[in-house]
Amino acid sequence: MRVIRQNEISVLKFGGTSVKTPSRMKNVAEIVAKCASGSKVIVVVSAMGHHTDELVNLAAECSNNPIQREMDVLLATGEQQSIALLSIVLNDLGVKTRSFTGAQLGIITESNFGNAEILQINRKRIESALDEYQVIVVAGFQGVTTDGDITTLGRGGSDTSAVALAAAIGAQTCDIFTDVDGIYTADPNKVASATMYEQIGYTECLELALNGAQVIHPRAVRLAQNNGLAIRVRNTFNPENLGTLINGYQSQSEIAGITTSSGFGTVDLTLETQQSNWEPVVRELCGHVQYIGSNSKERTGDNLPSLTLAFGGVSENTFSELATTIARALPIRNLNWSEILDRVTVVYSPDCSSVGPYMKERMRSILSDANIEIKFVQATKTSMSCLIASNNTERALNLLHEGLHEFAIETARQKVSIA
Ligand code: ADP
Ligand code: ASP
Ligand code: MG
Repeated sequence: MRVIRQNEISVLKFGGTSVKTPSRMKNVAEIVAKCASGSKVIVVVSAMGHHTDELVNLAAECSNNPIQREMDVLLATGEQQSIALLSIVLNDLGVKTRSFTGAQLGIITESNFGNAEILQINRKRIESALDEYQVIVVAGFQGVTTDGDITTLGRGGSDTSAVALAAAIGAQTCDIFTDVDGIYTADPNKVASATMYEQIGYTECLELALNGAQVIHPRAVRLAQNNGLAIRVRNTFNPENLGTLINGYQSQSEIAGITTSSGFGTVDLTLETQQSNWEPVVRELCGHVQYIGSNSKERTGDNLPSLTLAFGGVSENTFSELATTIARALPIRNLNWSEILDRVTVVYSPDCSSVGPYMKERMRSILSDANIEIKFVQATKTSMSCLIASNNTERALNLLHEGLHEFAIETARQKVSIA
């Protein structure tokens, strides 16, 4: 007879830093065991430390162009090690436990290797595993296609696995344990004055995640929002702290936070003619590179169009190749491309797009006062970004956080007092 009731199941996820070493694995096991004394537990784990990066590098040493299907078979082994080890340690603590790969638990995905979406989770299999075991330890970041191929969910995808499992069993919350206390107005490892949110709305959290706040994966936030499930982001090394709750909270303030991300580049060019249909040509040439947009520059003496084009998702090799291809495909007078740049982004709270013009001005003046050259400005309804040289990123982040203090800190303070 089935003995589980939904509210007796906790879903916890531990990231790579939390399980980096055997002693950290034991620390995690203790947190899980404590939780398991009051409820059944589904625990999702990532690969230990930077193991996934090491596997990616290993494949790169074997081949310049590794097949994506085999990359997924390879990368999924990182999480498989973690589940076995955590299960071994939990067993030593006297907890009745069993480990499951994504395939063993019936986490079915589409076959988009390297970035697969979860299609379905076999709830019955989870329930029968939880009938038998107090804790089930599940490999994050992976699933299986209906054809039996192993897939991975994209880098940082263990967060998504945890939220998907929580949604599948109808849990109200999913606890994501990481190496900082919660979600802050900026990366607390780079900005000492960053302030932690006690509560943050799905929408602004998603924007922070999409713009580079690595602490939570955007797909996990979307999935939680779609299922009306709250995520609690908290610290493995400070588990008494309740961290940040991501839910439907509606913010009253203007700025959600400041983020950075890398892998951008700009191309400055002057067209040889007045030709205006260059944009579809550029888009066509991009392939996997993301075309972000263009800023017009002052016209030359010949009144020829002068532009800066911006791209994302580039590395040194792909970018110089793209720039050379653009130079061949368009009638241009001259073309120069930048080094690989970083992006610094101010993310607004929902419905605060009216701060855009002010923010653009403030960002420009803060960065130019510090002699930080802005190579490109990108404005959206929910954010304002500048592309800058990567050796300036941390300084720019701190200056902007400090310079936008009245917005960034106030936002967090108000949330804390309301929570
Ligand atoms: P895990 O291995 O647990 O998945 P990640 O490295 O993916 O952890 O994410 C945690 C890291 O996210 C933190 O160590 C922190 O440096 C970084 N981070 C970036 N932006 C933020 C932010 N706004 N709030 C909190 N942490 C952030
Ligand atoms: N191990 C995977 C990665 O490093 C998944 C994760 O950590 O969430 O991207
Ligand atoms: Mg992560």
